[in-house]
Amino acid sequence: MEQALVGLDAAEIGELLGRVWGGGVPSFRARQVYEAVYHQRVSGAAGISTLPKELRERLAGALPSGLPEADHCYESTDGTKRYLLRLADGKSVETVLMPEGERYTFCISSQVGCPVNCRFCLTALLGLERNLTAGEIVGQVLFAAGANGLSAEVSKLNVVMMGQGEPLLNLENVLKATRLLVDPKGVGLSERRLTLSTSGIIPKMLELGKSPLRPKLAISLNASTEEQRRELMPVTRKYHLSDLMEACRAYPLRPWERLTFEYVLLKGVNDTDADARRVVKLAANLKCKVNLIALNPGPGIPYGTPDQARVDAFQQIVRRAVPCFVRKPRGRDIYAACGQLKRMSEENLLPVVG
Ligand code: SAH
Ligand code: SF4
Repeated sequence: MEQALVGLDAAEIGELLGRVWGGGVPSFRARQVYEAVYHQRVSGAAGISTLPKELRERLAGALPSGLPEADHCYESTDGTKRYLLRLADGKSVETVLMPEGERYTFCISSQVGCPVNCRFCLTALLGLERNLTAGEIVGQVLFAAGANGLSAEVSKLNVVMMGQGEPLLNLENVLKATRLLVDPKGVGLSERRLTLSTSGIIPKMLELGKSPLRPKLAISLNASTEEQRRELMPVTRKYHLSDLMEACRAYPLRPWERLTFEYVLLKGVNDTDADARRVVKLAANLKCKVNLIALNPGPGIPYGTPDQARVDAFQQIVRRAVPCFVRKPRGRDIYAACGQLKRMSEENLLPVVG
């Protein structure tokens, strides 16, 4: 069991209440606590007004709420906010909030750092520090929603697991967090508005497909040939592109779902017309769409960003066969864009220690 309230499911809360009270707590109390934490977003046991005072106090004394605290919030000229959140053990991780008109997208992290060594990604330079707990994953949503006065139920709220980390290497906690996030009595997010992005950890994709509740699946393709992908994403040595595409064909999509392929365009490396035609071949006959992202640059990243004309030409080719969109970079000025999450501080753009 986790050492914090956020992250516990209703059954675990029931056990906890039995422990702090010594038995005899009616079962509806567990549901009250559960709904207060996830649905009403009460920030700690002391604030759960439906509980008798003494039970509330014992619960608050027994364990912390576990909600992360913000060390910094950086705000971009485009409205994107990047939060550097401090976890209970002093480590920090990032959550990004992107408003777009009436819609909001939260980009949350699944690990502190990342063990997958993609050559174009700043997070890779951190290495893996540790997995996040289910509570720390859900806590990012509770925190960002609370800090911005947003209700998780608003139909325009999307959550993407595209921050720090490879979610499929922390699948157990990601799935528990998913259950808490999409439970109507929990955070109340729509299952269709939760997406997980993976670098292609094939055995875990199979496991994900078997889970009754699961985020939508996005795959970071990023290359059009086996050899190119091995170079850009060394994880391909273990999980070959051909096998990854086979796993995509076998993936059990729900009737309303389609796969998303993400493709980071690197100038002169994977952005040619021939690459685009090969992407079409890979994606053909799959129920999918392709999202293109021009590289977000960063110190230590040995690639360039293609110009707009190249991005457009690539899109035109892919679009003939598959829906294809260009993702506009959000929050590049505050190092909040895809692949830039490396705990940069705004003043000197150096990693924040800790
Ligand atoms: N680890 C998971 C999810 C986090 S990365 C994954 O790799 O899918 C989220 C997305 O950012 C991935 O699609 C990745 O390919 C992309 N990305 C990484 N570095 C980038 C960069 N420098 N510029 C643009 N996109 C990048
Ligand atoms: Fe990890 Fe994703 Fe970055 Fe690759 S792109 S290093 S998998 S966070």
